[in-house]
Amino acid sequence: MKSDKKNIRHLSLPQLQEYFGSIGEKAFRAKQVYEWLWLRHATSFDDMTNLSKDLRHKLEEHFVLPAVQVDATQHSNDGTIKSRFKLHDTHLVEGVLIPTDTRQTACVSSQVGCSLSCKFCATGYMARKRNLDFDEIYDEVALINKQAMEAYGKKLTNIVFMGMGEPLLNYRNVLQAIERITAPDGLGMSPKRITVSTAGVAKMIRQLGDDKVRFNLALSLHAANDKKRSEIMPINDTNSLKELIDALNYFYKATGNEISFEYILFDNFNDSKQDADELIKIYRQVPADLVNIIEYNPIDNAQFRKPDALKAEQFMEYLAKNRVNARLRRSRGKDIDAACGQLANKG
Ligand code: SF4
Repeated sequence: MKSDKKNIRHLSLPQLQEYFGSIGEKAFRAKQVYEWLWLRHATSFDDMTNLSKDLRHKLEEHFVLPAVQVDATQHSNDGTIKSRFKLHDTHLVEGVLIPTDTRQTACVSSQVGCSLSCKFCATGYMARKRNLDFDEIYDEVALINKQAMEAYGKKLTNIVFMGMGEPLLNYRNVLQAIERITAPDGLGMSPKRITVSTAGVAKMIRQLGDDKVRFNLALSLHAANDKKRSEIMPINDTNSLKELIDALNYFYKATGNEISFEYILFDNFNDSKQDADELIKIYRQVPADLVNIIEYNPIDNAQFRKPDALKAEQFMEYLAKNRVNARLRRSRGKDIDAACGQLANKG
């Protein structure tokens, strides 16, 4: 049965203070509860041990605290940990911890499924069920942070919104989650360590500029002309490369934040010299810091293959010769379907 009780984490601190005032409690109690919710990651009212039992009971009567739970984890040979998270309504999403010598990166989901149907992506073959609430996104990050501490003794250093879903189609919740993740009374992370990756929603890229966000932006490019890009990413039909280039420039002018491109190499599709030339042309039109060239990870439904190592190397060399700051990103967590584009709640 659906509860009418409000999610307590959807109340701001002033709203919580107002509530505590209305039940005759002192204002500092609101601060204590807010700390439990965001700083101390309480998952139930019973965790709030510096409140009286009476008060905890009162909160329980009025509110719910639907914390995200780890449903299953898989450990890759390369140290990557994939988690399946269960939401309060039993929906499942996935998140990944990617450790390197210098970084602990969390890759998080923003939607249950995805509506954009990119042809190379396992999530794209699932229907979009719903958006994640901001507190659910926050929980994913907090839980992966806990895993990083437990498994590697280090906190998260970076967050990428490259899991399931298109973050800019869940705009308000993603921004609110990042506000909590970066707040001193939340996870206190630097926005410079956060990258939101989009398949290319030009209007919302401009909105990020208008909102003067402080995090970085990555565009999943994957093909550098409209015909090819529309073939693998249907969103390109309504958000052409020209529109995206203009929107990225608008974003950069408004924020000065880092922009990068993601480009998955597909064998005999986007890995020729002509493809590289088209990519270079786009790179020159946007103040992008970096092009991440990504090894393709096969998924069940798609017919793409990754090019052999020599071809990938030649592609990289050609970009370097043309002064493109490009990096070949080897896939992580392939053995557990945790690599880029492979998240689909398998098993
Ligand atoms: S690549 Fe991203 S936007 Fe495209 S279908 Fe997958 S999750 Fe959705």
